[in-house]
Amino acid sequence: MKYENILIVIEAEDKKLSKLSIEMLSKGRNLADELDQKLFALIIGNKNENILNDTIMYGADKVINVDNKFLENYTTMAYTKVLNNIIDEFNPLIILIPATENGKDLGGRICARRNIGLVADCVDIVLTDEKDNFKCIRPTFDGSLLSDIRISSYPKIVTVSKSNFKASRKDINRQGEIVNFDSEITKSDILTEIVGVIKTNKKVSIEDANIIVAGGLGLEQPKNWHLVRELADVLGGAVSGSKPISDQLWIPADAFVGVTGLKVKPKLYIAIGISGSVQHLQGMRESGIIVAINKDPDAPIFKVAHYGMVGDLFEVVPMLIEKLKELKING
Ligand SMILES: Cc1cc2nc3c(=O)[nH]c(=O)nc-3n(C[C@H](O)[C@H](O)[C@H](O)COP(=O)(O)OP(=O)(O)OC[C@H]3O[C@@H](n4cnc5c(N)ncnc54)[C@H](O)[C@@H]3O)c2cc1C
Repeated sequence: MKYENILIVIEAEDKKLSKLSIEMLSKGRNLADELDQKLFALIIGNKNENILNDTIMYGADKVINVDNKFLENYTTMAYTKVLNNIIDEFNPLIILIPATENGKDLGGRICARRNIGLVADCVDIVLTDEKDNFKCIRPTFDGSLLSDIRISSYPKIVTVSKSNFKASRKDINRQGEIVNFDSEITKSDILTEIVGVIKTNKKVSIEDANIIVAGGLGLEQPKNWHLVRELADVLGGAVSGSKPISDQLWIPADAFVGVTGLKVKPKLYIAIGISGSVQHLQGMRESGIIVAINKDPDAPIFKVAHYGMVGDLFEVVPMLIEKLKELKING
């Protein structure tokens, strides 16, 4: 069997290409050019027409459009069935899937279905002298090292983390092919039904914010989280936190900073009650100015902070909020 071409599994948000999908198209385009192969993009959903042309403008040669009312929302079995059929039909060499909640679910399931290998949460895919022996680079040892993993089965499947590849610019003159593919999905493939979607209220997008106020376990309890919010509000910034904070759902599951979360570079990053684990630092150490508030003078966050306040956050943060409010009032 000859496996060729790169396949990107696209994800849409509000009927627009997600930022991660655009980043993956950019990486996929580079791989396809270097290998002298084609870049395919798979769009699974319902009423996909808004994103078909954009997918080409961001780099795809061919868009495989699987449009079906039963595919409006992600469900494991239906999406796996579609991807399985697509692999049989197109025999891609490597498939890049977004390392989102749904993408990780799909990646694991398709690999189990076909008994093939997967590398999860890749931060890079590097060509070697043997053209199809990709180095799949992912964090290991809690993010303190990067490992090079090779997949010996085909197609090679990787899930790709956010913010690792520079998104290419949209080329409105770019031409490509759109093919409609019959998913053969019927109601019997849908084993779970999404009865409603509750949108989170993201006031300022964290990745685009100039100012981020992030909180950690030093806040102790959700009832204290208002301190982080109030400081962010008075500064006009976005709210984020360490992974345990999102694990406990004080912030949305995809809103934490770090090696397995968002990589951010705001002008100002304020870390409140965050110790500065190696995993957290990898997501924010390139911020313009880092301010840390922590009662432990030896906390690792102080090694990367430009300004450090050693003290009890329950005293320091309210004072800071008051002072900033005063400064605002006095112009
Ligand atoms: C595979 C893997 C991947 C991971 N990925 C990530 C990731 O991407 N991002 C991430 O953030 N973490 C990640 N983690 C978790 C990481 O290892 C740490 O456990 C986590 O970052 C610690 O969060 P924290 O700083 O909020 O809590 P802690 O480490 O418990 O720190 C709390 C801090 O608050 C301070 N404090 C306590 N009370 C006060 C007070 N009253 N006033 C001032 N300071 C106070 C303490 O001195 C302490 O420094 C990952 C872990 C693993 C194993």
